Amino acid sequence: MTNASEYVKKIQEEIHQRNGHEPEFLQAIDEFFPTIVPFLENHPEYIDHNLLALVTEPERVIQFRVPWQDDQGNWQVNRGFRIQFNSAMGPYKGGLRFHPSVNLSILKFLAFEQIFKNSLTGLPIGGGKGGSDFDPKGKSDAEVMRFCQSFMTELAKHIGPNTDIPAGDIGVGKREIGYLYGTYKRLKQYDAGVLTGKPVEFWGSKGRTEATGYGAVYFVKHLLADLNEDFTDKVALVSGSGNVAIYCIEKLYQLGAKPVTCSDSNGFIYDEAGIDLALLKELKEVKRARLTEYVKARPNAKYYENQSVWETDFNAELAFPCATQNEINLEQGQRLVKNGVRIVAEGANMPSSVEAAEYFVENKVYYCPGKAANAGGVAVSALEMSQNSQRLQWDKEEVDVQLDKIMKNIYENCRDTALLHDQKDNFMLGANIAGFARVAEAMEIQGLV
Ligand code: GLU
Repeated sequence: MTNASEYVKKIQEEIHQRNGHEPEFLQAIDEFFPTIVPFLENHPEYIDHNLLALVTEPERVIQFRVPWQDDQGNWQVNRGFRIQFNSAMGPYKGGLRFHPSVNLSILKFLAFEQIFKNSLTGLPIGGGKGGSDFDPKGKSDAEVMRFCQSFMTELAKHIGPNTDIPAGDIGVGKREIGYLYGTYKRLKQYDAGVLTGKPVEFWGSKGRTEATGYGAVYFVKHLLADLNEDFTDKVALVSGSGNVAIYCIEKLYQLGAKPVTCSDSNGFIYDEAGIDLALLKELKEVKRARLTEYVKARPNAKYYENQSVWETDFNAELAFPCATQNEINLEQGQRLVKNGVRIVAEGANMPSSVEAAEYFVENKVYYCPGKAANAGGVAVSALEMSQNSQRLQWDKEEVDVQLDKIMKNIYENCRDTALLHDQKDNFMLGANIAGFARVAEAMEIQGLV
């Protein structure tokens, strides 16, 4: 029998050799692998069955052409993908991302993370992810609709309410989900449970839009409670200005904290008095405007063009990176710690580099990794699937109570798993082991498939 750390190293090297051109996927692997060594030491059967080789290979990768016509009548082509990574826990579940950076590497990292995130929710969902390199920014509604219709014309062949249930991610909100669902219904007839994140006007779940941001704050709420603290008067740095950031900011205010920043791909806002949430919602949800507009309405706030929230020296105790992958590198992480940040809770997927994440853990920052802290979104998606099966729509309060309960369970699971492995407060290790343990057991029971 091979020892656990030798086995992990061997598989990690093989994955690097076979996927050398997929840096983000390799990054997700490199963050994950070292942390599960202590778990594998107690589970030699998983080493014997070569489970790491199995769990890191997607069950299915679908790539397709998405032809569509722009408003000028030009023929355009984008790439569409769906990664059906792991179905041991249930049907593939995970969002669709529309962004020019989308490629196989990014979607494989997202789908890989999704497996363990979904497992942590305790709900019966496997892991998947998809999307396109289409950029909805600057496109007309009609162009977005035509693109979504074409994308779904192909994707519909591969998904279903009991096999694979996509949702939103960056660039895919309720407008896109509405068009995607309309096309699915036209092709396959009514089946609301095939997509989540649907508008609440038809088969969506109340509270889904808010769930990722609220969930990240709930995770930290339970952590703070353990430390006999709460959010009162704590200053928070938030990045992003999509629905994760907006509802993270909303919940931070509700619980007594003061969020002072938000950002988009062109720069960021620092508002010492606290971000004006109503203005931010108006700009982003109604007008689809850039953050440069924010300072026009609020002259005391400052706009930092082409700069990152994480390259500044504001003092804050809390950091909620809610923009995108790799927004915090080692240097920026060190700077955050120097400026007093004690808790980093990831609303985005993999916003910290491996080095930054390890630095947080080593320097006793409470680092709450995305696969745990941002699991609230997909958890409420799974609740939306339940509501669709019941043909019912639950009250917003009921969804919110469930979300808080799920986030508490995830937090406690990460905390207790870390403790069990003599790594108190190492939530990265706790999340990875707890997420993996459930998947590994299910895979083992289902045999070599
Ligand atoms: N895209 C979200 C995530 O990263 C949500 C996925 C879903 O609701 O299926 O978890």
